[in-house]
Amino acid sequence: MFDVKEKLKNLKIENRFFINGNYKKNNNIFHKFSTVKDIKLPPLYKCLSKEVNEAVEVAKKTYENKIWRNKSIKEKKEIFFKIADLIEKHKEEIVLLDTIETGRSIKNFYFDSLPKAVESIRWFAEAVDKCFEHAIYKDNKLVSIIRMPLGVVGIITPWNDPLVVNFWKIAPALLMGNSVVLKPAEQASFSMLKIASLMKEAGIPDGVFNVITGDGETGKLLALHNDVRGIFFTGSSEVGKKLLIYAGKSNMKKVSLECGGKSPFIVTKNCNDLKKAAKILAKNIFYNQGQICSAPSRLIIDKNIKNEFLNYLIQEAKEFVPSDPLSFESKVGNLVSKGQKERVENYIKYAREKVKMIKVGEDSEYGFAPVIFDEVNINSKLAQEEIFGPILVVISYETVDEAIKIANNTKYGLAAAVFSDNIKEANKIALEVESGLVHINTYDAEDNQMPFGGVKESGLGRDKSVLAFDEYTELKTIITDLE
Ligand code: ADP
Repeated sequence: MFDVKEKLKNLKIENRFFINGNYKKNNNIFHKFSTVKDIKLPPLYKCLSKEVNEAVEVAKKTYENKIWRNKSIKEKKEIFFKIADLIEKHKEEIVLLDTIETGRSIKNFYFDSLPKAVESIRWFAEAVDKCFEHAIYKDNKLVSIIRMPLGVVGIITPWNDPLVVNFWKIAPALLMGNSVVLKPAEQASFSMLKIASLMKEAGIPDGVFNVITGDGETGKLLALHNDVRGIFFTGSSEVGKKLLIYAGKSNMKKVSLECGGKSPFIVTKNCNDLKKAAKILAKNIFYNQGQICSAPSRLIIDKNIKNEFLNYLIQEAKEFVPSDPLSFESKVGNLVSKGQKERVENYIKYAREKVKMIKVGEDSEYGFAPVIFDEVNINSKLAQEEIFGPILVVISYETVDEAIKIANNTKYGLAAAVFSDNIKEANKIALEVESGLVHINTYDAEDNQMPFGGVKESGLGRDKSVLAFDEYTELKTIITDLE
């Protein structure tokens, strides 16, 4: 921990975009607002065709002259270890940037988010030379099946966990030899702008890693670019669908999407420890104000245990009442923006007349106290739409088959949980729930070794694990006749 006030006084915010190893400005600024009290943010520059083309062009040049991809694996690894060390060295400044820009609590960034991002950078660097390529020997022919980088890769990311999500993509993309143009979220760009110069200091050659700033219009220009060979995205399903269209309209680039969720948390009558299950649910739906794509936002519970479970849940939810994001005492900070506040407010207004609402604690100016809506209609807006706020909907069921049906009654399929001590029952549910990730008797237990991503409208492709290296490459088959 550190003296936040003191650090804030001397905080330098880099707001210029980063192309070819240099910070640059243009004439299109857009103003930013912080939900953190008394914080004034500098504006961001919006990159349009000129800057997007420039970034893609330099990235393409570095890909073609092989300045990065021909570096030895050993060198690439060392550079990545150095990036991790430098981020740790500048940890206080970086977490402060993310906190004042997003309103999320500094405690989250300092103890959870930044360490996770650093761990993921080191994990990918350690893993990169532990993967084998494939070979076949038959009919006196030797067939090598090797991974080739894609070329220039565009990465478009959201604001809710900036560093973690950025490095889940940047690390495997660069380690596989691609050159990268990153478009971070307009609500969370400052930490990556700072880190861009740390990456240069660590030894990433100029032009290999570029950061362009701006909103959806900038992202669209990147995704439509004919020299970009892959777009790797985390964000809403709505934008994910647009990216598929842009790929089709341009050069059929590879598209990988990690999109929204409405993840079910199923508790059966065979769950022996309801208190523990309630604690895990509260932690995962109310953490970061529910602004997590894999948050379990639908509790699907056996009707006979619902009341007992809700009593435990309300107790646990008290831990997640929002307070000052800049205090290390706060577990939960603010929502990211005025717009997000309005969005959550609208859902609450819409629902409170129709459904029983349980509210736990007081709201702050830009933070919502946990809200639980009981006995929600499974086809209602509340049960179907991703809210991205601290709102849990509760649906009770009579049979396990009904629970599975309810769980699958959504366009999403990112994460899920089953709490049951009947292992047969738990596994039946886990197999039948349509979802990229299912936890049994736990949540948020995945680490870098495990792939992450969804099915249905939660996206396609996977972040993390050695399988992520496949995302940033294409296979090439080389057949040699040995006759
Ligand atoms: P969220 O709802 O979490 O803000 P979005 O899907 O709107 O998520 O945004 C995620 C990222 O996608 C951000 O970097 C944003 O600027 C970018 N983005 C938004 N619209 C588009 C678009 N039409 N094309 C490309 N990128 C976009």
